[in-house]
Amino acid sequence: MKTIDGVANDQPLDWVDKREQLLLAPYAMRSIHSKGRAHPEAEHAYRGPFQRDRDRILHSSAYRRLSGKMQVFTGEMGDYHRTRLTHTHEVATIARTIGRTLGLNEDLIEALALMHDIGHPPYGHAGEDALNECIEGEGGFSHNQFGLTIVQEIEIRFHDFPGLNLTYEALMGQLCRVDKNLKGQNPLLEVQLVDAADSTTYNAHDADDAIKLGLVSIEDMQHLSLIAECLDYVKKHYVALNEELLRKALVHRLIERPVTSLLSHCASELTRYDFQSVEEALASDFVIGLPADVAEQKKELEKYLYDHVYRHPSLIEVRQKAQWRVKEMFESYCQNPDRFPKKYQPRLERVGVNRMAVEYIAGMTDHFFEQTYNSMFS
Ligand code: MG
Repeated sequence: MKTIDGVANDQPLDWVDKREQLLLAPYAMRSIHSKGRAHPEAEHAYRGPFQRDRDRILHSSAYRRLSGKMQVFTGEMGDYHRTRLTHTHEVATIARTIGRTLGLNEDLIEALALMHDIGHPPYGHAGEDALNECIEGEGGFSHNQFGLTIVQEIEIRFHDFPGLNLTYEALMGQLCRVDKNLKGQNPLLEVQLVDAADSTTYNAHDADDAIKLGLVSIEDMQHLSLIAECLDYVKKHYVALNEELLRKALVHRLIERPVTSLLSHCASELTRYDFQSVEEALASDFVIGLPADVAEQKKELEKYLYDHVYRHPSLIEVRQKAQWRVKEMFESYCQNPDRFPKKYQPRLERVGVNRMAVEYIAGMTDHFFEQTYNSMFS
C-alpha cells in the first residue's frame, strides 16, 4: 500500500485525476487517459505520469548537458546570453503560463518543454547541419530525432531496458517535432502549445542577446512592425529609460505582446468551438497559434533575425569553424573506433561506427567538444 504522509492511497491516479478534473478544460490531456508506457509500471503515490516524465527528463544527463550547449552565441562571446538550458527554462515557463490560462495539462507541457531541445548537439544548428552532412546517406541527423533517441535508447535508468520509459503522450509530442506532418495525428493541444512557446521565446531572447552583444541595435530594428509596436507601447508607459532599461522593457513587451494575443485569440476560438473532449479538439481544424496580423509581424521579425543575427559575419565565422571541426572529429572517430569509451561498445555494434560517431559528438557540450578536439589534434 502506498501512502502520502501516512494516508493510505491505493489508487494514486484518483488523487491526480480529482485535481485535474477541477483544474483542466475538457480539451486538455488528462493523466488518467494516458496510453501508458512501453514497459508498464505501477503509478506513483503522489506524482502523476507526466510529472514523472518531467522528472526523468530533468534528471537525465543529456538534460544537464544543455547548460554547456550554445543557443545562438558561443561562450567566447560572454556570459550574458542564453544557453540551450536557459532557453529551455524560458520555453517551459512561457508554455506553462499559457497552458494554465487555457486550462491545459501543465505537467505534460512542462515535460514536453524540458525535452524539446534535449537532442541538440554542440554548436547549435551549425553542429546539427555538419553532423547531418556526415551521415546524410544513412538517414541523416536532426536534433529533434536525436532527442527521441536519447529518451528511448541512450539514457540508462532501468536494469532491463534502455531509455526513460516515458509515456506515450510525451514520446508522441517529441515525434510530432520530428515529423511536423505526422499523418492522421493532430498533435495534442499541449504539444502545439510548446511549439508556439518555443518560437515566441527565441525571437524575444535572440533579439535581446543580439542587441546586448552589439550585433544589431534597437534603431536598426525599429522599422519592423512588431518592434515598432512594442517600442511605442514602452515609450507610452515609461519615461526616460536609459539604453539598458529600454532594451529590457522592449524584450519584456516582445514576449508579452505575442503571448497575450495568442491567449486571447485561442481563448475566444476555444469558446466558439466548445470542445467537450481531447478527441473533438484534435478532429477539428483548430490550432494553437497567433492571430493572422501578429503572425505576420512575427514572421517579419524572424526573417530579420535570420538575415541580420543568425547570418551575422561574426556568427558565420564561428559556424564555419565549428562545422569544419565537427567533420574532422567525425572522421577521426570513424577511423579510430577504439576511441569511444568502453561503455558505448554495445551501441557501437548496434548502430555502426558512423552513427555512433555522430551520436557521441552530438552528446558533447561545446566545452567538452573543444577539449576533445584539442587533445585529438594538438
Ligand atoms: Mg527550442
